[in-house]
Amino acid sequence: MNVLLFQALMGKLLERHYGIAITDTPFACEAFVASRIKDGESVLACADGHACEHELARTDILGAFGTPSYSGITQDEYFAALAEVGGMQEMGDDPITCPKCGRRTDFGYGNFPNSQHHRCPANECGHEFVVSLEDVPADG
Ligand SMILES: [Zn+2]
Repeated sequence: MNVLLFQALMGKLLERHYGIAITDTPFACEAFVASRIKDGESVLACADGHACEHELARTDILGAFGTPSYSGITQDEYFAALAEVGGMQEMGDDPITCPKCGRRTDFGYGNFPNSQHHRCPANECGHEFVVSLEDVPADG
């Protein structure tokens, strides 16, 4: 993870699910984000923590009987945002490499039936993205 990607992801999640801009949160500050990353905190955990702390209701979904929903962002929703911000690759015969620096990537930071979360091992790069597994049949 790197500061730019963290902020892009966080901005998308906050805007899409809580209707607020990242500039209304401490995550607009690069030093703040850098320290979160250093502590090993994920974007998802930080977004949930912020929403919880400020009692933010979801703006994209409603709870039961039209009441406000305070449910956290799901892994699927996180993956959708990561695919948009970090990019999406198809699984092919060649090993997956980082689109930013070309290194072979690590994965396994949350795997789903149809996709993998890949992370560039280079600290100075820190790019993360989604790889879709095309040999897995779709639902049904
Ligand atoms: Zn890289």
